[in-house]
Amino acid sequence: MMYDDLSLDNFMSGLKKRTPDEREFHQAVQEVAQSVIPFILDNPQYRDAGIFERMTEPDRTIIFRVVWEDDAGNIRVNRGYRVQFNNSIGPYKGGLRFHPSVNLSILKFLGFEQTFKNSLTTLPMGAGKGGADFNPKGKSEREIMRFCQSYMTALYQHIGPHTDIPAGDIGVGGREISYLFGQYKRLTGRFDGVLTGKALEFGGSLIRKEATGYGAAYFMQEMLAHHNEGIEGKTCVISGSGNVALYCAEKIIHLGGKVVALSDSRGFVHDPEGIDPDKLAWLVDLKTRRRGRLSEYAENFGLEFHADKKPWLVPCDLAFPCATQNELGAGDANALAQNGCIAVAEGANMPTTLEALRVFRDAKVLFGPGKAANAGGVAVSGLEMTQNSMRLAWTAEELEDRLQAIMKKIHRQCVRYGEDPSGYMNYVKGANIAGFIKVADAMLAYGVA
Ligand code: NDP
Repeated sequence: MMYDDLSLDNFMSGLKKRTPDEREFHQAVQEVAQSVIPFILDNPQYRDAGIFERMTEPDRTIIFRVVWEDDAGNIRVNRGYRVQFNNSIGPYKGGLRFHPSVNLSILKFLGFEQTFKNSLTTLPMGAGKGGADFNPKGKSEREIMRFCQSYMTALYQHIGPHTDIPAGDIGVGGREISYLFGQYKRLTGRFDGVLTGKALEFGGSLIRKEATGYGAAYFMQEMLAHHNEGIEGKTCVISGSGNVALYCAEKIIHLGGKVVALSDSRGFVHDPEGIDPDKLAWLVDLKTRRRGRLSEYAENFGLEFHADKKPWLVPCDLAFPCATQNELGAGDANALAQNGCIAVAEGANMPTTLEALRVFRDAKVLFGPGKAANAGGVAVSGLEMTQNSMRLAWTAEELEDRLQAIMKKIHRQCVRYGEDPSGYMNYVKGANIAGFIKVADAMLAYGVA
């Protein structure tokens, strides 16, 4: 599958032939290929070694059955996955997602994105992603526990602190990581840093749960500062109300921004006055401890809840899609640009469609892609691995300083490769090329493998 004529169309049609029906994977590769293929054509050592062809094929994919018993005594079967995408610059690293929509295409897109993201963090981490088509919603504590135990029983032989270190993602938070880690320990008799996102009592890191959201706010701060702007006084719209969205909101409020909307899969809440720290604390408790719905927040504070609608029509200066893939289409991007939005930072992975990306670029809206803007989470996961290896724990202040420094470094790398001839700072191009070079050079060094 080497291409004499390495053009975007040729490359994508070959990929689609080899991986039919993997729509999300095609989309993620196309977004990267648009910037990386021209770069490869200018740097033939990558082309001659077939680096991009190799990078778009995972090292290995593990698919397994997960059998568990529900509270009523029924036997339930789900499909579990781990895609070990690329370990050229470190052990496989990336989250687990438990959601009914999970399939191979979604995990391959996430694993592929992770390759570039982990490279950008400057830490020695390869890329992987995994999960199951299990729906944690409406399950009891015991059902979640039994599912996690069964999932780990199938997975544990394939992971380890020097081979593959999973973490959380949608549907996998601290509770699930605890059950998974407990089962790994039971099966292997080992206590090692095989998962990140652990609780503080058994090797977790401070600010891990906040890191992705904080990092997205910091990345926005960097993009704005580079263009002589700042977050203070800006009106912000955030989608989602999960781990990423809540802590992104917290940091924006801390930096002086005004968060006027949040959402979940059932709709969005509009709070024209802006969410203050007390209301946010109430919401964090509702979502994390009481596991309630966003509509309960609207009800409690007398706010309007717009059922089955996305928040992108609410006028704002800054937008942060922090829920899920393909949640922001061309129509949404047009509405944001027309309403005066000047910058977007992706807290989620690939929330913006390729068409919407074009709209932002044409309207010269600054756009921080997820592989750069949401890399703070995996960066602090990397720092959790370091602390586990050193058998010590850094303070929250030390960790936040390191997180902020990493987000600055990521921004600098994007700027180095991102400027378009028009002067527009194309962060998508910058992130793709910078992320590519480190992994590609490692692959070149290993020879044909
Ligand atoms: P959570 O499960 O904590 O929250 C997900 C949020 O998105 C919830 O508000 C959920 O609403 C909403 N959501 C999920 N699916 C849909 C859908 N199909 N349509 C609309 N809304 C939806 O996940 P995270 O916050 O951890 O992850 C969010 C995104 O960030 C994902 O793309 C993830 O890959 C990415 N990410 C996460 C990192 C992390 O550290 N957690 C790191 C880097 C990226 P509801 O509650 O109604 O389902």
